[in-house]
Amino acid sequence: MIENIVIYPDKKLREISQEVVEFGSGLKETLDNMYDTMMDKGGVGLAGIQIGKTQRILIVNIPREDKIQYKEDLLEVINPEILESSGEILFQEGCLSIPNFYEYVRRASYIKLRFQNKEGKSEIIEARDYLAVALQHEIDHLNGILFIDKLSILKKKKFEKEYRKNFKAS
Ligand SMILES: [Zn+2]
Repeated sequence: MIENIVIYPDKKLREISQEVVEFGSGLKETLDNMYDTMMDKGGVGLAGIQIGKTQRILIVNIPREDKIQYKEDLLEVINPEILESSGEILFQEGCLSIPNFYEYVRRASYIKLRFQNKEGKSEIIEARDYLAVALQHEIDHLNGILFIDKLSILKKKKFEKEYRKNFKAS
């Protein structure tokens, strides 16, 4: 089911999401709804809070070189914890909660991530580049952090100007 996306500057986006302790049918339904919503809006990642669920859950589905998002590449991540990070990458980001604004953000180019899958089983993965960026962006959402928080003062001013314009237009 496609859900409504919580849009900036909604204060909901600033909430800290809670650890998931129940791995039941409710969680699977939420993950399915997140997938439907993300695909409908053309996103590559989505955090629970973006559909109003304050749970530490996120999904990421990075397109391959042919630009197609294969569902077999879908990562469903519960209670993530970054164990290691290194390197640096400057990557242009966007966010379904901040429509029509894209800007470059500096993040780690490599992360080692521990999380639980939807059955509650613990997994560890290594991620680089685009995938590492997307995971860090979504993990930030679980802590009430948005990518615009990471911009320089100058770029933040540009955001506020552009966003106010778009906000009024719509
Ligand atoms: Zn986002």
